[in-house]
Amino acid sequence: MVIRGKIPGTTEVTTIEIDGGTIRSVGDGTGVDLGGDDVWVAPTIFDVQVNGVGGINYKGKDLTVEKIVETTEWMYKTGTGMWCPTVTTSSAEDAINGLKLLAQSCQESDAAAASFAGFHVEGPYIASEDGPRGAHPLEHTRDPDWDEFCRYQEAAEGRIRIFTLAPERDGALEFIEKVAETGVIVSIGHSGATPERIQEAIRAGAKMSTHLGNGAHAMLPRHPNYIWEQLAADGLWAGMIPDGFHLPEPVLKCFYRAKGKDRICLVSDVASIAGLAPGVYGKEGGLGKSELHANGKISLAGTPYLAGASLFLDSGIANVVRFTDASLADAMDMVTCNPARLLGIDDRIGTVEAGKEASLTLFRWEEGQEKLDIVATVVRGEVVYRM
Ligand SMILES: [Zn+2]
Repeated sequence: MVIRGKIPGTTEVTTIEIDGGTIRSVGDGTGVDLGGDDVWVAPTIFDVQVNGVGGINYKGKDLTVEKIVETTEWMYKTGTGMWCPTVTTSSAEDAINGLKLLAQSCQESDAAAASFAGFHVEGPYIASEDGPRGAHPLEHTRDPDWDEFCRYQEAAEGRIRIFTLAPERDGALEFIEKVAETGVIVSIGHSGATPERIQEAIRAGAKMSTHLGNGAHAMLPRHPNYIWEQLAADGLWAGMIPDGFHLPEPVLKCFYRAKGKDRICLVSDVASIAGLAPGVYGKEGGLGKSELHANGKISLAGTPYLAGASLFLDSGIANVVRFTDASLADAMDMVTCNPARLLGIDDRIGTVEAGKEASLTLFRWEEGQEKLDIVATVVRGEVVYRM
């Protein structure tokens, strides 16, 4: 297959020759199958925080391999060809069931195997306090438990790659050390930790902040506080939700400038009801009732708390370009090569060059647009979505 288009950060139209699942060459070519002079071609959008989509949550009793595979169709429509299915706070039984089925889906489905870059477990070792806990169910928040983590990782067949916790929980620092030693990325999130505790967590091996600025108190001391501390910590990557609701425009702009393009991964944090029609949805995944608003905002019904997001990164990329001084190429880096570097898989994905996996997103874009117009999604050389 030959794809024609412009790679973000370049000005010339180029051709990308694909052989099997791999990019064979980037340069001039003929016999174009996809794309065109007005099409951009980027490494596929890679989202490290996806809780579910299309009414399917990646945990719980009614989850099946078929449903998990169905989520790939939903994500491909948004130009996202790679992501980390995220299992949020729940009973050990529900989480283990979800992780087992996710691992099984990687064995049984080529789409899942190609698109799941590893699993993200967010909670249950997070703050119990209202505010930092966000929409996670209080009854399942608890202190870190190494044996339980091992059971999770076993159920996941070793595929857990990111683990979000609150470092102020009892035993968290020892736990972070042990988890970090296994190569899993420990991320600070849903935490009300003191700045000192944030530093201790970094020394213990924490490498990331989960959706920085969210899963936080509504009121904080102006300084010092855990947001400034994490924002200033050069050793921490930051996940950020650019949907326009989780971080107001000036906050996103300041976070972007302070953290710097090279240490940010934009995440959608989409909840399972993303993709559905606006309305109030029931106890999906134990999160309580959620209200999906027409503008894409999701709140915990009857509260001001956000309960996940519904806008995908095709919107998020456009927001970052509109709200900050990031170029399209900068914004694309934050959803392609950055997550690849974070997970240590940048030798095979994240850039358009010979030898890399042919997982690409084709789109049209003009400055000021609210979302990218996805033209096609290609995963390992196969066109999995076409407009
Ligand atoms: Zn969260």
